[in-house]
Amino acid sequence: MKIGVVGAGVSGLRVAQLLEEQGHEVSVFEARDRIGGRVYTTDLGKGAEYEAGGEWLDADHHRCRALVEQYCGELESADQEPALAFYNGEMRDTADLWPEAAEDEERFELSARALARQLELPVWKNVEFAKYDSLNLDSFLRQNCQSEQGQWWLRANLRSDEGDDIERIGLLGWLGGYVHYINRENLNRGESEMSAFRVPGGFSGLLAKMRDSLRGQVFLGCPLQKVVQDADGVELQFADSAERFDRVVLTLPPPCAERVVFEPALPVARRCALEACGMSRAIKIVWRFSQAWWRDRGFCGRLHCDGPLHQLWEGTRGTEPILTAYICGDRAVEWTRLGDPVSAGLYEIAQMFPEAPAFFVHGEIHDWINDPYSLGAFSHHAPGFALDHAGNIGTAEGRIHFAGEHTATWVGFIEGALESAERVAAEIGH
Ligand SMILES: Cc1cc2nc3c(=O)[nH]c(=O)nc-3n(C[C@H](O)[C@H](O)[C@H](O)COP(=O)(O)OP(=O)(O)OC[C@H]3O[C@@H](n4cnc5c(N)ncnc54)[C@H](O)[C@@H]3O)c2cc1C
Repeated sequence: MKIGVVGAGVSGLRVAQLLEEQGHEVSVFEARDRIGGRVYTTDLGKGAEYEAGGEWLDADHHRCRALVEQYCGELESADQEPALAFYNGEMRDTADLWPEAAEDEERFELSARALARQLELPVWKNVEFAKYDSLNLDSFLRQNCQSEQGQWWLRANLRSDEGDDIERIGLLGWLGGYVHYINRENLNRGESEMSAFRVPGGFSGLLAKMRDSLRGQVFLGCPLQKVVQDADGVELQFADSAERFDRVVLTLPPPCAERVVFEPALPVARRCALEACGMSRAIKIVWRFSQAWWRDRGFCGRLHCDGPLHQLWEGTRGTEPILTAYICGDRAVEWTRLGDPVSAGLYEIAQMFPEAPAFFVHGEIHDWINDPYSLGAFSHHAPGFALDHAGNIGTAEGRIHFAGEHTATWVGFIEGALESAERVAAEIGH
């Protein structure tokens, strides 16, 4: 069959590979002038490389690990310790948290595990747990945390995982993701940690190799405008061209898919699912320094703080030291509205580490919230989404198939984007 794939991110390139392996003739169309989508290894000049989008791999991201090992060699494990927590003016090593925060964390995890163990995937099958779908993650946190420090610490970590304020995250959808975490119990300690690995040479290198493995062409600078389906095929219409296919695979993030015209119109349930799908509001600000002053200070660069920067880690992927701030939710939106977020962020760093500005060279902000081809960082299940909409977002409409992290059980992850590619390749078959 002749198949058109729209989007050259992780899911688009992977589904194109799998469909070619199945013997199909595949073309990929991408709106941007680069491949990779929300995976983007870039630089601040002179070897100062970093990941502007997806960055971390967990031990149990088996699909992604296999591709990295096939194309890029051994995974790199990142220095996770010593890491710091800065709260109420007090700096602590995360290995030595406030005892009440550590207790809260344990209680929270035990409760989450107990609930997640009762669930099955995909998450929309769990109709008997409707009460959890109407709650948000914040209410679950409040139920399980008794101390002020514990609430802050857990909220900071959960907001980082979810990419948004946890009042926006539905409890059932979140527990569906937690099912994957409890499967980690069998992994060795250390290996089971989150955000433990990165791709040697950067994620964009992996995607470039995936693209190079394709027989078909990847067309850049082609924003999809309209999809016309009839009994015999599907036409994809772009600004200056149109092409007909036997089947098409759309990997656009939900808010981008909403901007495409479908003829005939998509069914109401699908349109509601696209509209209701939450897109997390996360941004990165990066600073290049002439020297990794945080290492001299005896910490690995990882820090959660109660100030406006939320979270820092060392983002160095090349030869020059980079510090990355990862900011989520309402705060992230505020940062995108500042005239000079790089200087404002450096000021915030200096409040905790007065020596930092002396080593500053250059910085950049990556605003995924307003990026026209993502309109958010990654998807999440808002309250009510898991049972009312999640089951409608990935199913095929005739000859139109839907992939992308938002259609997977690993919602929000690169692993999810790969999972969705496998599902669609199996749907289309040989
Ligand atoms: C700041 C940030 C941090 C993250 N951190 C992690 C992490 O540490 N670990 C992890 O696993 N995941 C992380 N993620 C999420 C991960 O990057 C995504 O889940 C994954 O890259 C999504 O892949 P995808 O193929 O589903 O979507 P995308 O990569 O968005 O691919 C869709 C493609 O469609 C294109 N497109 C959009 N509209 C059109 C149109 N009209 N016509 C044609 N093409 C169009 C886009 O340009 C894009 O290339 C992060 C994401 C961000 C933004």
